[in-house]
Amino acid sequence: MRAPGCLLHSIDACCSMTACEWRDRRPSSEIDNDEQLMSTAYFSHADCGLHDMGGGHPESPDRLIAVDKGMGVVGVDKRIERRDAPAADLDAIKRVHDARYVDELVAFAPGQGMRRIDGDTAMNPHSLDAALRGAGALVAATDAVMAGEVANAFCAVRPPGHHAEHARAMGFCFFDNVAVGAAHAIAAHGLSRVAILDFDVHHGNGTEDVFRGNPNVLFCSSYQNPLFPHTSDTSVPGSLIKTPLRAGTAGSVFRKAIERDWLPALDTFRPEMIFVSAGFDAHRSDPLADLLLEAHDYAWITDRIAEVAAIYCDGRIVSTLEGGYALDALAASAAVHIDSLSRAGE
Ligand SMILES: [Zn+2]
Repeated sequence: MRAPGCLLHSIDACCSMTACEWRDRRPSSEIDNDEQLMSTAYFSHADCGLHDMGGGHPESPDRLIAVDKGMGVVGVDKRIERRDAPAADLDAIKRVHDARYVDELVAFAPGQGMRRIDGDTAMNPHSLDAALRGAGALVAATDAVMAGEVANAFCAVRPPGHHAEHARAMGFCFFDNVAVGAAHAIAAHGLSRVAILDFDVHHGNGTEDVFRGNPNVLFCSSYQNPLFPHTSDTSVPGSLIKTPLRAGTAGSVFRKAIERDWLPALDTFRPEMIFVSAGFDAHRSDPLADLLLEAHDYAWITDRIAEVAAIYCDGRIVSTLEGGYALDALAASAAVHIDSLSRAGE
Protein backbone atom coordinates (compact mmCIF):
# COMPACT_ATOMS: atom_id res chain seq x y z
CA MET A 1 0.00 0.00 0.00
CA ARG A 2 1.32 3.39 -0.87
CA ALA A 3 1.46 5.71 2.10
CA PRO A 4 0.88 9.07 0.45
CA GLY A 5 1.16 11.12 3.57
CA CYS A 6 4.18 9.46 5.09
CA LEU A 7 6.70 11.83 3.59
CA LEU A 8 5.13 14.63 5.56
CA HIS A 9 5.19 12.79 8.86
CA SER A 10 8.01 12.53 11.33
CA ILE A 11 11.14 10.61 10.51
CA ASP A 12 10.50 8.32 13.46
CA ALA A 13 7.07 7.49 12.14
CA CYS A 14 8.53 6.76 8.74
CA CYS A 15 11.06 4.27 10.12
CA SER A 16 8.45 1.53 10.25
CA MET A 17 6.82 2.35 6.93
CA THR A 18 8.20 -0.20 4.54
CA ALA A 19 5.41 0.82 2.17
CA CYS A 20 6.81 4.31 1.72
CA GLU A 21 6.91 5.14 -1.94
CA TRP A 22 10.59 5.84 -1.90
CA ARG A 23 11.39 2.40 -0.47
CA ASP A 24 9.05 0.81 -2.98
CA ARG A 25 11.15 2.08 -5.83
CA ARG A 26 13.63 -0.80 -5.48
CA PRO A 27 13.21 -4.48 -4.71
CA SER A 28 14.29 -5.42 -1.20
CA SER A 29 16.81 -7.90 -2.59
CA GLU A 30 18.76 -4.99 -4.07
CA ILE A 31 18.61 -3.06 -0.84
CA ASP A 32 20.09 -5.98 1.05
CA ASN A 33 22.90 -6.71 -1.37
CA ASP A 34 24.38 -3.39 -2.34
CA GLU A 35 26.20 -2.30 0.79
CA GLN A 36 29.52 -2.76 -0.98
CA LEU A 37 28.73 -0.23 -3.70
CA MET A 38 29.95 3.24 -2.86
CA SER A 39 29.11 5.15 -5.98
CA THR A 40 28.14 8.37 -4.21
CA ALA A 41 30.45 10.42 -2.02
CA TYR A 42 28.83 12.40 0.80
CA PHE A 43 30.88 15.43 1.74
CA SER A 44 30.20 17.23 5.00
CA HIS A 45 32.04 18.53 8.05
CA ALA A 46 31.31 19.15 11.71
CA ASP A 47 32.08 22.86 11.24
CA CYS A 48 28.98 23.13 9.04
CA GLY A 49 26.87 22.27 12.08
CA LEU A 50 28.39 25.03 14.21
CA HIS A 51 27.38 27.97 12.03
CA ASP A 52 24.33 29.35 13.80
CA MET A 53 22.46 32.58 13.07
CA GLY A 54 20.41 32.50 16.25
CA GLY A 55 17.48 30.68 17.77
CA GLY A 56 14.47 30.50 15.50
CA HIS A 57 16.43 31.11 12.31
CA PRO A 58 15.16 28.66 9.67
CA GLU A 59 18.67 28.02 8.30
CA SER A 60 19.59 26.05 11.41
CA PRO A 61 22.14 23.36 12.29
CA ASP A 62 19.21 20.95 12.67
CA ARG A 63 18.94 20.82 8.88
CA LEU A 64 22.05 18.68 8.47
CA ILE A 65 20.88 16.37 11.23
CA ALA A 66 17.59 15.98 9.40
CA VAL A 67 19.33 15.05 6.15
CA ASP A 68 21.33 12.39 7.96
CA LYS A 69 18.21 10.96 9.60
CA GLY A 70 16.39 10.92 6.30
CA MET A 71 19.17 8.91 4.69
CA GLY A 72 18.88 6.39 7.50
CA VAL A 73 15.17 5.95 6.89
CA VAL A 74 15.71 5.29 3.20
CA GLY A 75 18.76 3.12 3.87
CA VAL A 76 20.99 5.11 1.53
CA ASP A 77 23.27 5.96 4.46
CA LYS A 78 24.85 2.52 3.99
CA ARG A 79 25.46 3.13 0.29
CA ILE A 80 27.38 6.40 0.46
CA GLU A 81 31.03 7.07 1.09
CA ARG A 82 31.37 9.72 3.77
CA ARG A 83 34.21 12.17 3.34
CA ASP A 84 35.23 15.22 5.34
CA ALA A 85 34.94 18.44 3.38
CA PRO A 86 38.25 20.31 3.34
CA ALA A 87 38.38 24.07 3.76
CA ALA A 88 38.57 25.73 0.37
CA ASP A 89 41.63 27.72 -0.62
CA LEU A 90 40.72 31.37 -0.90
CA ASP A 91 42.09 31.30 -4.44
CA ALA A 92 39.37 28.81 -5.44
CA ILE A 93 36.73 31.09 -3.95
CA LYS A 94 38.21 34.15 -5.66
CA ARG A 95 37.61 32.53 -9.06
CA VAL A 96 33.96 33.48 -8.62
CA HIS A 97 33.98 36.18 -5.95
CA ASP A 98 35.58 39.61 -5.89
CA ALA A 99 38.92 39.29 -4.07
CA ARG A 100 38.27 42.35 -1.95
CA TYR A 101 34.86 41.01 -0.91
CA VAL A 102 36.40 37.69 0.15
CA ASP A 103 39.14 39.40 2.17
CA GLU A 104 36.64 41.74 3.81
CA LEU A 105 34.35 38.85 4.73
CA VAL A 106 37.28 36.99 6.32
CA ALA A 107 38.12 40.12 8.32
CA PHE A 108 34.45 40.65 9.24
CA ALA A 109 34.06 37.18 10.82
CA PRO A 110 33.69 37.60 14.59
CA GLY A 111 35.94 35.95 17.14
CA GLN A 112 33.02 35.96 19.54
CA GLY A 113 29.37 36.94 19.48
CA MET A 114 27.40 37.49 16.29
CA ARG A 115 27.91 40.02 13.51
CA ARG A 116 25.01 40.74 11.21
CA ILE A 117 25.36 41.31 7.46
CA ASP A 118 21.68 41.92 6.74
CA GLY A 119 18.34 41.10 8.28
CA ASP A 120 18.60 37.44 7.25
CA THR A 121 22.32 36.77 7.26
CA ALA A 122 24.78 36.79 10.16
CA MET A 123 28.11 35.28 11.22
CA ASN A 124 29.01 33.63 14.49
CA PRO A 125 32.58 32.55 15.37
CA HIS A 126 32.14 29.32 13.36
CA SER A 127 30.50 30.76 10.27
CA LEU A 128 33.67 31.48 8.30
CA ASP A 129 35.01 27.96 8.86
CA ALA A 130 31.64 26.52 7.84
CA ALA A 131 31.56 28.64 4.70
CA LEU A 132 35.09 27.58 3.78
CA ARG A 133 34.12 23.92 4.26
CA GLY A 134 31.03 24.44 2.12
CA ALA A 135 33.04 25.80 -0.78
CA GLY A 136 35.78 23.24 -0.17
CA ALA A 137 33.27 20.40 -0.34
CA LEU A 138 32.40 21.38 -3.90
CA VAL A 139 36.06 21.54 -4.92
CA ALA A 140 36.83 18.15 -3.37
CA ALA A 141 33.67 16.59 -4.77
CA THR A 142 34.53 17.85 -8.23
CA ASP A 143 38.02 16.36 -7.96
CA ALA A 144 36.66 13.01 -6.72
CA VAL A 145 34.11 12.73 -9.51
CA MET A 146 36.52 13.88 -12.21
CA ALA A 147 39.09 11.34 -10.99
CA GLY A 148 36.48 8.57 -11.20
CA GLU A 149 36.83 7.73 -7.51
CA VAL A 150 33.04 7.92 -7.24
CA ALA A 151 30.29 8.29 -9.80
CA ASN A 152 28.76 11.36 -8.22
CA ALA A 153 28.66 13.31 -4.97
CA PHE A 154 26.35 15.12 -2.60
CA CYS A 155 27.63 17.94 -0.41
CA ALA A 156 25.68 18.21 2.84
CA VAL A 157 26.94 21.63 3.77
CA ARG A 158 25.72 24.88 5.21
CA PRO A 159 25.69 27.82 4.90
CA PRO A 160 24.06 27.46 1.48
CA GLY A 161 25.52 29.43 -1.39
CA HIS A 162 23.39 30.27 -4.40
CA HIS A 163 22.33 33.75 -3.29
CA ALA A 164 25.90 34.96 -2.70
CA GLU A 165 26.74 37.29 -5.57
CA HIS A 166 30.15 38.16 -7.00
CA ALA A 167 30.75 40.78 -4.33
CA ARG A 168 27.89 40.45 -1.88
CA ALA A 169 26.65 38.07 0.83
CA MET A 170 22.88 37.78 1.10
CA GLY A 171 20.02 35.38 1.75
CA PHE A 172 21.82 33.12 4.28
CA CYS A 173 24.76 32.76 1.82
CA PHE A 174 28.40 33.89 1.95
CA PHE A 175 30.25 31.99 -0.78
CA ASP A 176 28.47 30.54 -3.82
CA ASN A 177 29.50 26.93 -3.22
CA VAL A 178 28.13 25.50 -6.45
CA ALA A 179 29.76 28.28 -8.44
CA VAL A 180 33.10 27.57 -6.77
CA GLY A 181 32.77 23.92 -7.81
CA ALA A 182 31.78 24.71 -11.39
CA ALA A 183 34.60 27.22 -11.78
CA HIS A 184 37.02 24.63 -10.41
CA ALA A 185 35.81 22.08 -12.95
CA ILE A 186 36.52 24.57 -15.71
CA ALA A 187 39.84 25.94 -14.41
CA ALA A 188 41.43 22.86 -12.89
CA HIS A 189 39.97 20.11 -15.08
CA GLY A 190 39.74 21.92 -18.38
CA LEU A 191 36.00 21.49 -18.93
CA SER A 192 34.33 23.86 -21.32
CA ARG A 193 30.63 22.96 -20.85
CA VAL A 194 29.35 22.80 -17.29
CA ALA A 195 25.64 22.85 -16.44
CA ILE A 196 24.28 24.09 -13.11
CA LEU A 197 20.72 23.02 -12.33
CA ASP A 198 19.01 24.83 -9.46
CA PHE A 199 15.61 23.61 -8.23
CA ASP A 200 15.59 25.58 -4.99
CA VAL A 201 12.34 27.53 -4.63
CA HIS A 202 14.31 30.78 -4.70
CA HIS A 203 16.12 31.90 -7.84
CA GLY A 204 19.88 31.39 -7.69
CA ASN A 205 20.70 35.04 -8.24
CA GLY A 206 24.25 34.60 -7.02
CA THR A 207 25.02 31.88 -9.54
CA GLU A 208 23.44 33.96 -12.29
CA ASP A 209 25.50 36.96 -11.20
CA VAL A 210 28.76 34.98 -11.24
CA PHE A 211 28.30 33.27 -14.61
CA ARG A 212 26.16 35.68 -16.62
CA GLY A 213 27.68 35.82 -20.11
CA ASN A 214 30.10 32.93 -19.47
CA PRO A 215 29.93 30.61 -22.50
CA ASN A 216 31.23 27.68 -20.46
CA VAL A 217 28.19 27.55 -18.19
CA LEU A 218 24.52 26.73 -18.73
CA PHE A 219 22.51 27.78 -15.68
CA CYS A 220 18.93 26.53 -15.31
CA SER A 221 16.90 27.74 -12.33
CA SER A 222 13.31 26.98 -11.36
CA TYR A 223 11.80 29.15 -8.67
CA GLN A 224 8.67 30.70 -7.28
CA ASN A 225 8.02 34.21 -8.47
CA PRO A 226 7.28 36.69 -7.08
CA LEU A 227 9.50 35.74 -4.16
CA PHE A 228 12.93 36.61 -2.80
CA PRO A 229 15.33 37.57 -4.43
CA HIS A 230 12.90 39.19 -6.92
CA THR A 231 15.05 38.97 -10.04
CA SER A 232 13.78 39.26 -13.60
CA ASP A 233 12.37 36.20 -15.36
CA THR A 234 14.25 36.87 -18.60
CA SER A 235 16.10 33.85 -20.00
CA VAL A 236 19.10 33.93 -22.32
CA PRO A 237 18.82 30.96 -24.71
CA GLY A 238 21.78 28.65 -24.45
CA SER A 239 23.16 30.03 -21.20
CA LEU A 240 20.48 31.11 -18.71
CA ILE A 241 17.20 29.22 -18.50
CA LYS A 242 14.71 30.62 -16.02
CA THR A 243 11.61 28.69 -15.05
CA PRO A 244 9.41 30.90 -12.87
CA LEU A 245 6.52 29.16 -11.13
CA ARG A 246 3.42 30.67 -9.57
CA ALA A 247 2.57 30.16 -5.91
CA GLY A 248 0.47 27.01 -5.61
CA THR A 249 2.26 25.17 -8.43
CA ALA A 250 1.95 21.40 -7.99
CA GLY A 251 4.57 18.80 -8.78
CA SER A 252 2.87 17.75 -12.01
CA VAL A 253 3.14 21.29 -13.38
CA PHE A 254 6.73 21.59 -12.14
CA ARG A 255 7.64 18.40 -14.02
CA LYS A 256 6.13 19.65 -17.26
CA ALA A 257 8.03 22.94 -16.91
CA ILE A 258 11.33 21.12 -16.41
CA GLU A 259 10.64 18.92 -19.44
CA ARG A 260 9.76 22.00 -21.48
CA ASP A 261 12.63 24.29 -20.40
CA TRP A 262 15.58 22.32 -19.02
CA LEU A 263 15.79 19.06 -20.91
CA PRO A 264 15.95 20.56 -24.42
CA ALA A 265 18.50 23.13 -23.26
CA LEU A 266 20.65 20.37 -21.80
CA ASP A 267 20.39 18.32 -24.99
CA THR A 268 21.63 21.30 -26.97
CA PHE A 269 24.39 22.20 -24.49
CA ARG A 270 25.71 18.64 -24.03
CA PRO A 271 27.28 19.21 -20.59
CA GLU A 272 30.59 17.64 -19.64
CA MET A 273 29.58 17.78 -15.97
CA ILE A 274 26.42 18.68 -14.09
CA PHE A 275 26.21 20.56 -10.80
CA VAL A 276 22.98 20.72 -8.82
CA SER A 277 21.87 23.42 -6.41
CA ALA A 278 19.59 21.11 -4.46
CA GLY A 279 17.22 23.22 -2.43
CA PHE A 280 14.18 21.45 -1.05
CA ASP A 281 12.12 24.49 -0.08
CA ALA A 282 9.67 24.06 -2.96
CA HIS A 283 8.19 21.23 -0.85
CA ARG A 284 4.59 21.89 0.09
CA SER A 285 5.46 21.86 3.80
CA ASP A 286 8.17 24.49 3.59
CA PRO A 287 7.48 27.60 5.67
CA LEU A 288 9.32 30.03 3.37
CA ALA A 289 7.46 29.48 0.09
CA ASP A 290 4.21 28.36 -1.50
CA LEU A 291 4.92 25.65 -4.06
CA LEU A 292 3.41 22.19 -3.63
CA LEU A 293 6.18 19.74 -4.46
CA GLU A 294 6.46 16.47 -2.58
CA ALA A 295 9.44 14.24 -1.94
CA HIS A 296 8.75 12.06 -4.96
CA ASP A 297 9.09 15.11 -7.19
CA TYR A 298 12.69 15.41 -6.03
CA ALA A 299 13.28 11.76 -6.88
CA TRP A 300 11.78 12.45 -10.30
CA ILE A 301 13.96 15.43 -11.13
CA THR A 302 17.08 13.69 -9.85
CA ASP A 303 16.32 10.72 -12.08
CA ARG A 304 15.93 13.07 -15.06
CA ILE A 305 19.24 14.81 -14.24
CA ALA A 306 20.96 11.44 -13.91
CA GLU A 307 19.60 10.37 -17.30
CA VAL A 308 21.07 13.49 -18.92
CA ALA A 309 24.37 12.94 -17.13
CA ALA A 310 24.50 9.33 -18.30
CA ILE A 311 24.03 10.41 -21.92
CA TYR A 312 26.48 13.30 -22.03
CA CYS A 313 29.04 13.09 -19.23
CA ASP A 314 29.53 9.57 -17.91
CA GLY A 315 27.11 10.31 -15.07
CA ARG A 316 29.26 13.05 -13.52
CA ILE A 317 27.07 14.95 -11.04
CA VAL A 318 28.00 17.03 -8.01
CA SER A 319 25.00 18.16 -5.99
CA THR A 320 24.96 20.48 -3.01
CA LEU A 321 22.41 21.40 -0.40
CA GLU A 322 20.83 24.83 -0.71
CA GLY A 323 17.49 25.53 1.03
CA GLY A 324 14.82 23.41 2.67
CA TYR A 325 13.46 24.51 6.03
CA ALA A 326 10.68 22.11 7.04
CA LEU A 327 12.87 19.52 8.69
CA ASP A 328 10.75 16.42 8.04
CA ALA A 329 10.20 17.42 4.41
CA LEU A 330 13.89 18.21 4.02
CA ALA A 331 14.81 14.81 5.46
CA ALA A 332 12.52 12.90 3.12
CA SER A 333 13.32 15.00 0.04
CA ALA A 334 17.10 15.05 0.43
CA ALA A 335 17.06 11.33 1.16
CA VAL A 336 15.31 10.42 -2.08
CA HIS A 337 17.58 12.82 -3.97
CA ILE A 338 20.69 11.11 -2.59
CA ASP A 339 19.10 7.70 -3.08
CA SER A 340 18.51 8.52 -6.73
CA LEU A 341 22.11 9.68 -7.12
CA SER A 342 23.32 6.50 -5.49
CA ARG A 343 21.27 4.23 -7.72
CA ALA A 344 22.31 6.18 -10.80
CA GLY A 345 25.95 5.56 -9.97
CA GLU A 346 25.67 1.83 -9.48
ZN1 LIG B 1 15.67 28.68 -1.10
